[in-house]
Amino acid sequence: MDKNKVISNDKNYIANTYARFNVVIKDGKGSILTDADGKQYIDCATGIGVNLFGINDEEWKNTVISQINRVQHVCNLYYAEPQTELAKLLCEMSGAKKVFFGNSGAEANECAIKTARKYSSDKYGGERYEIITLKDSFHGRTIATLSATGQDEFHKHFAPFVEGFRYAEPTMEGIFSCYTEKTCAVMIEAIQGESGVNVLDFNFLKQLEKFCKERDILLIADEVQCGNGRTGYLYAYEAAGIHPDIVTTAKALGGGLPIGACLLFDKCAQTLDAGDHGSTFGGNPVACAGAISIMKRLTKDLLLEVKGKGDYFRMNISRIRNVKSVSGMGLMIGIETDRPAREIAEKCLEKGLIVLTAHKKVRLLPPLNITKDEIDEALKILNEVIG
Ligand SMILES: *Cc1c(COP(=O)(O)O)cnc(C)c1O
Repeated sequence: MDKNKVISNDKNYIANTYARFNVVIKDGKGSILTDADGKQYIDCATGIGVNLFGINDEEWKNTVISQINRVQHVCNLYYAEPQTELAKLLCEMSGAKKVFFGNSGAEANECAIKTARKYSSDKYGGERYEIITLKDSFHGRTIATLSATGQDEFHKHFAPFVEGFRYAEPTMEGIFSCYTEKTCAVMIEAIQGESGVNVLDFNFLKQLEKFCKERDILLIADEVQCGNGRTGYLYAYEAAGIHPDIVTTAKALGGGLPIGACLLFDKCAQTLDAGDHGSTFGGNPVACAGAISIMKRLTKDLLLEVKGKGDYFRMNISRIRNVKSVSGMGLMIGIETDRPAREIAEKCLEKGLIVLTAHKKVRLLPPLNITKDEIDEALKILNEVIG
């Protein structure tokens, strides 16, 4: 593989939407990625929290390949087994009653937004459509999910945005100041991934749940990044002991294949009718087969293991000199330092460690099956770069 050719083709033919690092990824195994020059890296990014059990995982790969050998796509005019099996599994594991499948986090959130609006319009008429989201949230790149995202920097160039979103501070005072008789839902990330791995206050989430319940406002948990076992919980909101009405999931769900799901709990399980929503690729059998193999591995024992590894990782990061704070849960980790996160990420790359940034922080989303030795190696590099 010719590194320079890949980069020049990218520069010439791919839209300039990404500020890429100077690495061409070739292949990998487990937590180790190899670039075009044969240099190896410990992968603490997993393609932004996607490759949940690492690269080229045998169990996942076998499930996906055996589905490819049967049929690669079935449109949603017919029934298909992988989709139904995955929906059943997701409902049994989460307590949801129905599932809608899309292909990404943004699409899962689009479905949540549409469902919340229809639920309210069915029950209270069309004037109750506002959704409160939180400051520093991230919900996606489509026009509606950009509008839902509570960061000003996302609200330029593409006006007019979708109306009906209000951005609250993550406190009850913040919620009250955005609440009107038009509010139909509140959307949260239990851990805000993109804006710096900010864990929301559990007390706030409990009060918010009560507030929503009393007013028949739907509580939507965007678990696209913090869900699927990453935090040592199946979904991060479980740590706060709350019960959302809608949960969205994507990123790690397919273990590397594009899939998003909107989980609908009791209140709104019957809200969507035939024709209300749809997707050509949504619930693609290959993506669903991959997701089934991922979900089946998220056992109690695995989640405990993630908690243990996360505690070990975070405790040792907090001991590194110049680390100001460490945030997160399980294997979703944010590191605050005085230096620009991008600069730290570049230095880590040089030394063979792939990390992410999230606003001012360095962010780690390693595979859940990363070994203790690999964590120690990552710590060594972080210590050299930050310490
Ligand atoms: C990544 C992300 C999204 C968007 O997911 P896409 O698959 O990129 O559309 C939405 N919400 C959260 C919390 C995310 O981290």
